[in-house]
Amino acid sequence: MRILIAGELNPDLILRGYQSFPTPGKEILVQDLELTIGSSSAICAVGLARLGDSVRFVGNVGQDLYGDYCLEILRREGIDASLVNRRADLKTGLTVSVTCPGDRALITYQGAIASLTAQDVPPEAFSGCSHFHVSAYYLQDQLRSGLKGLFHAAHEAGLTTSLDTGWDPTERWGEELIETLTEVDVFLPNEAELRAITRRQDVLPGLAHLQNGRTLVIAKLGAEGCVTTWEGRTICQPAFPVEVVDTTGAGDSFVAGFLHAWLRHERLEDCLRFASACGALSTRGIGGTSAQPGCSEAESFIRAQTANETRGPI
Ligand code: ADP
Repeated sequence: MRILIAGELNPDLILRGYQSFPTPGKEILVQDLELTIGSSSAICAVGLARLGDSVRFVGNVGQDLYGDYCLEILRREGIDASLVNRRADLKTGLTVSVTCPGDRALITYQGAIASLTAQDVPPEAFSGCSHFHVSAYYLQDQLRSGLKGLFHAAHEAGLTTSLDTGWDPTERWGEELIETLTEVDVFLPNEAELRAITRRQDVLPGLAHLQNGRTLVIAKLGAEGCVTTWEGRTICQPAFPVEVVDTTGAGDSFVAGFLHAWLRHERLEDCLRFASACGALSTRGIGGTSAQPGCSEAESFIRAQTANETRGPI
């Protein structure tokens, strides 16, 4: 089973533990620095690879050190990066995150992030794949208009499809997404995104608004867990308790876990439980990928949590 992911590919530079927030004209010191793979698409790809799935990645990076870094990480994780373009005309994007417990500021240089087009995903990219996933829909300025056609081509080639939007930096939340969803099998927005896309304040009316007879819509609710309605049933999965270090990429790790289970035709409840375990476990480390679990770690975490629930309070 191979999963194709098309999307943005960039590192995150995390500067941790500042005494006071930087102000113009002044220098501050931070306690720690970490360079990690960032971007929703790449974090999801690494999450799937950790779970043992075979992943092919399509994206653009520049011919620069950050591009080298991204490719090295994909290779190290066993991800097929043969369709990643090294573009001489672009710089690899970068997010600098300045964080301290309870607050952070993100500064992003988009560079190659928004450069991917539907033409960068040739028909042969689908070959040998059973599923096609796209993240960060609203950052993919060049891909967005061609995405419905690409998902249609994936369906024609026998693949299933999924989409995660991320935040729309323009806050337009255009109607064309609703049209694209007619070619999407699984859609996984978070609560704020669902609210903005559907113009509905509450989650259940938001989910109802997106029913189109095809798309399974799962709302990610952060520390509240997740919820979906499917075939007339509403299924809620509370989040698992963990000692949270950094929630970056929790949603992407959740998506990786969901797809891993869903592509194996597990019961929807079990897919949501497995996804929640992957999301929760990923928050134990700095950055999106450092604490992403392997399959057996996620399974034994669920077993331990279920045993605790059965045992009840002492
Ligand atoms: P996104 O990163 O896309 O905004 P969420 O923040 O909703 O997505 O997180 C996705 C999933 O990760 C949640 O549905 C939940 O299962 C898990 N998760 C997120 N934050 C926590 C947390 N603080 N504790 C436990 N699980 C969490």
